[in-house]
Amino acid sequence: MTVPAGGPESWPTHHSKALYARARRTITDGTSRTTLLRKGKHPIYVDHGEGAWVTDVDGNRYLDCNNNFASIIIGHADPVIAGAVQARLARGTAFSLPTDAEIELAELLCERVESFELIRFCNSGTEAVMAALKAARAYTGRPNIIKAEGAYHGTYDHAEASLSPNPTNWGQAVAPATVPYSAGTPASVADEVTVISFNDIEGARDAIHRSGDRLAAVLLDVMPNRVGMPVIESEYVRAIRDATRAVGALLVLDEVISFRLGYGGAQTQLCVDPDITALAKIIGGGFPVGAVAGRRGPMEVFVRSGGGQAKVPSGGTFAANPITMAAGHAAMAQLDGNAFARLDAVGERVRCGLRTVIARAGLDWQVTGAGSLFRVHPHNRTIRNYRDAHLSSDEAAQISEFGLRMQSHGVYFVAESLGCLNLATADSDVEHLLGAAEASLANS
Ligand code: PMP
Repeated sequence: MTVPAGGPESWPTHHSKALYARARRTITDGTSRTTLLRKGKHPIYVDHGEGAWVTDVDGNRYLDCNNNFASIIIGHADPVIAGAVQARLARGTAFSLPTDAEIELAELLCERVESFELIRFCNSGTEAVMAALKAARAYTGRPNIIKAEGAYHGTYDHAEASLSPNPTNWGQAVAPATVPYSAGTPASVADEVTVISFNDIEGARDAIHRSGDRLAAVLLDVMPNRVGMPVIESEYVRAIRDATRAVGALLVLDEVISFRLGYGGAQTQLCVDPDITALAKIIGGGFPVGAVAGRRGPMEVFVRSGGGQAKVPSGGTFAANPITMAAGHAAMAQLDGNAFARLDAVGERVRCGLRTVIARAGLDWQVTGAGSLFRVHPHNRTIRNYRDAHLSSDEAAQISEFGLRMQSHGVYFVAESLGCLNLATADSDVEHLLGAAEASLANS
């Protein structure tokens, strides 16, 4: 049965429910991805996706406004990517021998971004950030890392520090506490990670100079989703870049998501010059991927010089496998200047449209984001950092309810997290999204 988009409030999801009950018998929490669980709800199991839409196992259709957490940029089941993958599949999936597919994707990426003098592939954003931090430590011979409060950089111990602090443990705004995220994180992680507040120029400068000759790198995402997708203040980036240079530390940019903001990523748009960049998501064309790219000097820690061991040996059974490389190349090659202009235009229509719908509903909410990304906040506080964006329990309940209502109106939107659009999103899809938002916010 196919239920038309925008259909009845309570669509049948009994096949999804049954699958979740079955999954819980063998998989911890019923899913390998914590991010797919909604409070008190079973996840929706997908049957297939096409373009901007996904269809669940009960036949319900949803406009996909998450796109696998911003990793799908062309559209689901894109025929060009599928063709490139099928051609490679027929030749074998993975070898303990390199392929030309790796070189093709490497060349495409290095041609686009000035700071990408050398690149190395891995399998996820978590691995890319980990490799970037290890490279920074090896290159500088220093242990410490600085990161912004609330920013998500994957699940490596140092990168996930202070991912989700709250008013009971986050300490002073001028010098936030380093709060371990996972139970069991060694105490030494807190000694090696200093947390700064996003957009706090003085705080960042202070932390960098205090860390001084123990600082390996500042790890920075210029539009961190969990910080509320605030606009980064150009003076803040500049201050971090200048201060890291002054103390001989590196700037590691996490462009795992922000690379989708433009042809040369966010760094080209913002004229930031990182030493190392972590990449993932869109560069795999829908397949698992990660990469670390950067200036020749720090990237050479991965090089085995004179037949000896590299400073940072790195491998990975599936790193640069030809399927991922071919898919990534087929996706990235489609992303020319026009494609990014279209993504920007669709994103802007959605952000503006949502603001209008919110105002019409008489709500004091706001929408942040850029390019194909957006985020809805159930309050009107100015968002410059994680604490501004942090939701009270009432606000968290409101945004979660909004997401569930959107789902019942045919929009898959993880409202507690980022909204993300793909290139296949048509004008009529934007109308559908805004209609769903109007219906979802009525009487809220
Ligand atoms: N950095 C950022 C900014 C991310 O958003 C993510 C994933 N959402 C990661 C790193 C980790 O990437 P992955 O899930 O591929 O490990």
